[in-house]
Amino acid sequence: MVSPQKALPVYASKKEILKAISSNTVTIVVGATGSGKTTQIPQYLLELSEKDKILCTQPRRVAAISIAHRVAEERNCEIGSLVGYSVRFDDKTSSETRLKYATDGMVIRELANDHILSRYKYLLIDEAHERTVATDVLLGVARQLAEQRTDSIRIIIMSATLDVDVFSAFFASAAPAEIDIPGRTFEVAHYYVNRPEPDYTEAAFAAVVQVHENEPRGDILVFMTGQEDIVGLATQLRELAKEVRLKSKDGDDLWVVPLFSALPYDQQRLVFKPTPKGMRKVVIATNIAEASITIPNLTYVIDSGLVKQRRFDPHTLFDTLSTVPISKASVRQRSGRAGRVGPGKVFHLYTRGGFLGLEDHTDPEIVRCDLAGQYLQLLAAGRNVLAFPFISPPPTDTKRTALRLLLKLGAIQHDSTVDPADATAMPFVLTDVGTKLAKFPLEPNHAMSLIAAHELGCLAGVLTVMSMLSVDNILAPPHAAATDGDDDRVRSARAAYASPYGDHLTMMRLYNAWEGEKQPNHWCKGVQLNPANLKKAKLIRTQLEDVAKKNLVDSTAGLTQHSGLSEDARVLMALCRGMVDNIADRNGPAFEVRGTKQQVFIHPTSVLFRRNDVGEHLLFDEQVVTTKKYIRVVSKINAEWLVVDKRQ
Ligand code: ADP
Ligand code: MG
Repeated sequence: MVSPQKALPVYASKKEILKAISSNTVTIVVGATGSGKTTQIPQYLLELSEKDKILCTQPRRVAAISIAHRVAEERNCEIGSLVGYSVRFDDKTSSETRLKYATDGMVIRELANDHILSRYKYLLIDEAHERTVATDVLLGVARQLAEQRTDSIRIIIMSATLDVDVFSAFFASAAPAEIDIPGRTFEVAHYYVNRPEPDYTEAAFAAVVQVHENEPRGDILVFMTGQEDIVGLATQLRELAKEVRLKSKDGDDLWVVPLFSALPYDQQRLVFKPTPKGMRKVVIATNIAEASITIPNLTYVIDSGLVKQRRFDPHTLFDTLSTVPISKASVRQRSGRAGRVGPGKVFHLYTRGGFLGLEDHTDPEIVRCDLAGQYLQLLAAGRNVLAFPFISPPPTDTKRTALRLLLKLGAIQHDSTVDPADATAMPFVLTDVGTKLAKFPLEPNHAMSLIAAHELGCLAGVLTVMSMLSVDNILAPPHAAATDGDDDRVRSARAAYASPYGDHLTMMRLYNAWEGEKQPNHWCKGVQLNPANLKKAKLIRTQLEDVAKKNLVDSTAGLTQHSGLSEDARVLMALCRGMVDNIADRNGPAFEVRGTKQQVFIHPTSVLFRRNDVGEHLLFDEQVVTTKKYIRVVSKINAEWLVVDKRQ
């Protein structure tokens, strides 16, 4: 019997791929999703030698973890031995590791220690078509490496869509080899709704039931936008199955499997489990199932036509996460998932006219996101950010905003030795503070708060706050709250831990209380927290503390000056010193963000929501737009805390 790996389309191109890689610095490999690029090509390279190291990047952390596990299984080894992975706050590699799957962000961090990634012979930039910011940055780095390490590195760009001209043009100077893996796809029939659906979650629910009851055997994949909607739909379907006998016409039951990034790995892997007899699997997933993870044996796809997308406005500094229509290219990708094993059907939850109105492609993320963190990492990696070869140049305003923040934080300073007439010279240098900031796996402003905390003698508290902020939606109740009433209930459950200053210190108190609890799970129930989230925060805290211990050895200069202040006040002061753009001042009944003059309101999830004693100045963690412009994670602060001491 042919092994499943040899049955993958990529296997037929193995010789051709290896030949191209051996004789070209850059190779571009294109193949339909599921053809075996990510799991197989790195293994082919592994077999070429006993010592060469291989680094394969992934835009998504879930994909990096899942694929590394899969490849370790295929090679029959423990994860973290020959095959490992590295994602933010989770590293499973060892000195034995020769094949590492890592998120692009982690690879960019690795550059700070090793500017040319000298330990790797092979750098595979995977899922390049996704064009995340970090992928774009790495593509730029790859082009530089192709010039600097012509003979010692092999760069492989892997992409799913057929639109690779942009990559070949970008790497033109390296004359890249191009390989198309011939795919086998089956006919896919498309169905559209007649009228636009007012509520896509309801439409998705109806579509699953419809397919299950009326369509022949075959598993279903539903594309939703995020965890909340996925959990909602999964619950709704399971409840319906309990109430009525939800049988397909072949007599099968429905097996509901959610898939999103915050799900623990052992639950994620259910999507790969063969569907038992008498069942029909329905996977309800985010965009992760579009290309990064291939779910076997699907026949039906239900496509919401929507995706969650971040967009940063360099003027208002609003970073919005909104649900937007996908592109035609994404529709094609999603649809393709139904035709891998046989003819399939795609049910689009939008009209045919709606489809025709979609953009051809999604903009690369770099044109719509904040760059301060990337700039800091590039500077730490010895790159000239002003002359960096971006595959799509970021908007000038975004670049300016990033540099302005880094200057404000003292991470960079003007280089007086540079000739201002020389347009290609780098007019900034990274300072000692900047070097330290870059070591933290945090945004520069959060990292700065840790440095300030160290000086103010309140590192422990700020470490806790930063760890809590690093877990997505840490304060969300185990069952998603949806209405204002729910927010009130959650607030009263946690009332005993509410700090009069606001959310940052409340988070700190909740964490401290949890740490001291003998029965943490029981306690979590009482305050409506998810125990898994707190465990995650603790892991993150340990790692941040490690970085702090290694890098912050200076004196606690600020402590003597502010020793009269309470620890609470010093924690907030330290937070203010990092989050320099995150201050709002009272203007009548509302608040106005300092600098941008945007009017904002306290988010309903805040302990300060609807309170009339919130004072004149607020510190916030982020600005979000939903029904209004809100600030989230908010604390009252004193104006004096914003005055920075003169450094001696
Ligand atoms: P590509 O990168 O070309 O999209 P992959 O290498 O990701 O393709 O996938 C190849 C095959 O491996 C697919 O059929 C997929 O279902 C399977 N696969 C990937 N990860 C796992 C896993 N964790 N468990 C089981 N099968 C997997
Ligand atoms: Mg892949």
